[in-house]
Amino acid sequence: MNRIINIKKYYTCKEHLDKKFDSGRKSRLKAETKEEYLKWKEETRTLLKKVIGLDKMETCELNPETLEVIRLENGITREKVVIQVEPDVYMPFYILIPPVIKTDEIQCFLALPGHSGAGKYSIAGCYEIPAVADKIKEFNYDYGMQLALLGYVVLCPDIRGFGERREEALQTDDESAFINSTCFHLSHMAEPLGQTVTGMNTWDMMRLLDYLKKRNEWKYDKVGCVGFSGGGMLTLWLSALDDRIQQAIISGYLYGYKDSLLTLNGNCSCNYIPHLWEYVDMGDIGALLAPRQVMIQSCRDDHLNGPRGLINVYEQLEIMKKAYRLFGAEENIKHDIREGGHRFHNEVFPLFFHC
Ligand SMILES: [Zn+2]
Repeated sequence: MNRIINIKKYYTCKEHLDKKFDSGRKSRLKAETKEEYLKWKEETRTLLKKVIGLDKMETCELNPETLEVIRLENGITREKVVIQVEPDVYMPFYILIPPVIKTDEIQCFLALPGHSGAGKYSIAGCYEIPAVADKIKEFNYDYGMQLALLGYVVLCPDIRGFGERREEALQTDDESAFINSTCFHLSHMAEPLGQTVTGMNTWDMMRLLDYLKKRNEWKYDKVGCVGFSGGGMLTLWLSALDDRIQQAIISGYLYGYKDSLLTLNGNCSCNYIPHLWEYVDMGDIGALLAPRQVMIQSCRDDHLNGPRGLINVYEQLEIMKKAYRLFGAEENIKHDIREGGHRFHNEVFPLFFHC
């Protein structure tokens, strides 16, 4: 016997919210000159820092502690370090140090994790953990290790809710909990306090840059940043708000919010920032990177691009390019398109470093 009734007509909110989205983007990039852009950049940075709750973050001593130093078979030295990012909030990370370090303008990269890779373990190439090895194969997630093998010092952090920073809900030793993250739980705790997961993670990455300065072994004022998917999101935000990032590789995360996060409304909670769409679309945030070097990587069949596919990417890229043109620096923004679904492609590295 059927215990429910069939609903013939649903009364939903989607169309109303779509219209509301269209009347947003009040702080869009409108600048027609470099001067106007610089003014917009300053105002928009101030605004976005408040929107993501950076003004709520509390500073403290870094108190770095080195927990482990291992020489891997491939010649890379892997350090495990923990720093204090806020009072009593700690962030563990790996530092991958190649035997011969690049002497270029940029020596260090932050390599930021996306979802479903157990945080730093996949990015730093911990192939010895079978569940991690599978995820590395699936997404090419070991881009931190790949960069270290190219001669860069690479910092691979656990961002909040990932790896060793999972909140209580996923602190079990089953594989699914190990691989996944507690963004949902963090969002529920943070947002009523006026904070966001994006803001907390952006802050932590700024603290990681502070650590590089404090350590003072490698060039710390010009640093690269790479991330795929959720790691791309954080690369975008960190680069938009902190000029210490001079080169950025954003893979699998550059598209319009309406198609990708409003229509596809089941994405991870860490993507959703109260009030954000009232002010900007993703291309406006990307425009804050101008004129620094950036590579955007998109996969043609990535479902996260939304129902219109790459069109939703091109539109946002065009907003970014407008900012780069004001500097006569359009060559500093590159778009790498790959076939297939949601995946990092490390073929991007030689393309990027020769540009
Ligand atoms: Zn998330």
